[in-house]
Amino acid sequence: MSLFCEKCNNRRLPKWDKVENKTKWLCETCCNYVDDKNNIIDQYQK
Ligand SMILES: [Zn+2]
Repeated sequence: MSLFCEKCNNRRLPKWDKVENKTKWLCETCCNYVDDKNNIIDQYQK
């Protein structure tokens, strides 16, 4: 489980995606999401 961002070492926040039925992990500093295998799957829109 990827609790920390590889780039900035900030803690990631779990965000449940009801559509895809899985948890995405948000880094608010890098503004991206990773899945539970630490692949970047989405960008956070401010
Ligand atoms: Zn980050």
